[in-house]
Amino acid sequence: MNSETAWKRFPKRAIHFDFHTMPGCEDLGRDFRGDEFVATLKKAHVEYINIFAKCNLGFCYYPTKVGTVYPGLKFDLMGEMIRACKAAGIRVAVYFNAGLSHEEALRHREWCSVNKEGQVYEFNKMDHWFRKMCFNSGYHDHFLAMVEEVLRQYPVDGLLFDSMNLSSCYGIECIEKMQSLGVDPEKEEDMIRFAHHSKLEMKQDIEKLAGRFRDDLFLYFLGVEACHQPTHMELEVLPQGGWGYEYLPTQIRYIRTLGKPYYTMTGRFQRSWGDLGGLRPEAALFYDCIHSVANAGTCCIGDHLPPRGVPEKRVFEMIGRVYGRIAELDPWTDKAKPVTEIAILAPWLRGDGVLRDKTEGILPGASRMLQELKYQYDVIDGKNDFSSYKLLFLPDKVQADSALLKKLEKYLSQGGKIVSSGESLTKECGFALDELNQAADLLGPEEFNHTFLHVKKELAEDLPDMGITVYEQGIAMVPKGKGHSFAELGRGYFNLGKWDHKHEYLYIPEKELCGHSGLIASESERVWHFSFPIARNYYKHAATAYKILLGNVLKRCLPEPLLKVKNLPSYGVATLTAQEKRTMIHLLCYVPEKRGAVMEIIEEPSVAVDVEIHFRLDGRRVKKAYLAPSGEPLPFSVADGYLNAILPKLIGYQMIVLEYE
Ligand SMILES: [Zn+2]
Repeated sequence: MNSETAWKRFPKRAIHFDFHTMPGCEDLGRDFRGDEFVATLKKAHVEYINIFAKCNLGFCYYPTKVGTVYPGLKFDLMGEMIRACKAAGIRVAVYFNAGLSHEEALRHREWCSVNKEGQVYEFNKMDHWFRKMCFNSGYHDHFLAMVEEVLRQYPVDGLLFDSMNLSSCYGIECIEKMQSLGVDPEKEEDMIRFAHHSKLEMKQDIEKLAGRFRDDLFLYFLGVEACHQPTHMELEVLPQGGWGYEYLPTQIRYIRTLGKPYYTMTGRFQRSWGDLGGLRPEAALFYDCIHSVANAGTCCIGDHLPPRGVPEKRVFEMIGRVYGRIAELDPWTDKAKPVTEIAILAPWLRGDGVLRDKTEGILPGASRMLQELKYQYDVIDGKNDFSSYKLLFLPDKVQADSALLKKLEKYLSQGGKIVSSGESLTKECGFALDELNQAADLLGPEEFNHTFLHVKKELAEDLPDMGITVYEQGIAMVPKGKGHSFAELGRGYFNLGKWDHKHEYLYIPEKELCGHSGLIASESERVWHFSFPIARNYYKHAATAYKILLGNVLKRCLPEPLLKVKNLPSYGVATLTAQEKRTMIHLLCYVPEKRGAVMEIIEEPSVAVDVEIHFRLDGRRVKKAYLAPSGEPLPFSVADGYLNAILPKLIGYQMIVLEYE
């Protein structure tokens, strides 16, 4: 499907019905009535659903001749669902688990993925991932035959493939294929790359097959990187189910830069998938949905259909209320695009998974700081045009190849600014970027494992006048030429954890400045570099000083940001979207509170009062400002190129609309 059609036909409100059914539900589908099913969906403002062709267990919910029909299923449940929904104008995609299929694995052990120990069943890991399929085995053709069977018989609108991200397989087909490609099974990184390659091959084969039947299908592959998705993105985020609250804001700001439509797929469960009796607080479900909308995305809610085929009434009442509120905003969200001026550059997002562990925590840390500071930013992988951004942030581990370096040099020469940190832009004997290399000398990795940051007066606003601990070290650097150091680093009396056969050194007071710099800017101040991985430090330790310092640097680089917000707490989110002649300011005020050992809960919205908004107009003249969907006017003034307004009370979420002449 071409991207214009995809945008036009992409749903605003979807439901993903999980339907993994253990054997033994002898009344499967017993109470399903097409008209009632459709009425439930319609009432909840649902336009599009995912239902099951084949579940993780490997059972099919249609009369398959290739796979295994769910034991005891007496009619074509999937077909009936498709028929009823299509007649009512609700579009239907069908789900296949590609990587897991226990029925196939039980009957064809030779189709299973083999782990490094030579096992095909990993009984020590009794979750549903304990048997995995191998895409290079006979399973490949079997699986495609099942997809073809569905495409031949059902007028589906899309196909959804789950569990594509399988771990490395040491089975004979994979080993022989690796050897023919010159891949060394002894090398961990080669194995990761080969698994990545096998996944993308499987995806391409499915795409080709689908293309032989239809060219207007939505195709999505869970576990495949966003940049390889052919038609759209379904961002799976269950904040209470293991994804946490950092994932959505970071990832949605990336996928929206890829030029394809996208929704977030959250879940209604208290815990995760499969928790049929778990229901999150309504405020939490609304928060995920509105967070997507505030980033110009649309919504999908994950549910699990009970075996008898009737959606849970209370679940759909809640979904109906949440989607009802979202639907009221349609006039201002249709075709709205995000508005940003900063980008976090993370080239590893396009990678083959080898860097995954090494980059953990960097993006969420970087994203959190910018979000808390209320900057308008995207996350990019480096393939897109940089010219629409005023500043790029290269957090902690951005290694630029020659093509990316050339792009960055050009970006700088056209007036762009770069803030980087840690190992970003370093090479063996200096910095990769010319302007940075002329401003700083790279001495190597930082030798002191516990340092203290002393920020110079010019950038010390709101920071305590003392050495602030840097927990995770990066590189050691000193200014050179006309480069200017904005922060000195102190060293401790000892390195943390030193062992002298009598004591482990745990209490580390600062001894003296060590001569290294924590922050250097080039003479033009177009390039700034933190010696330490500021993003990972913030992610792991959440010391507000790091964020405040980054904010002070950004204030100096971008003295007039698009949006300034006061009296919205640090956890509040402020984003911008735009339609022709309109800007929408989205304000979110919710706190995921840590409850007990692991859970983060949003039980109700938080309240903020007298929220001050300063929006840069860039020459536009505002005709009216109002709250949506109520239409209530919002008084404003204009001064120094900014629209200024005060929202007296914010309860959870508010959209503010500015309409231009
Ligand atoms: Zn294999």
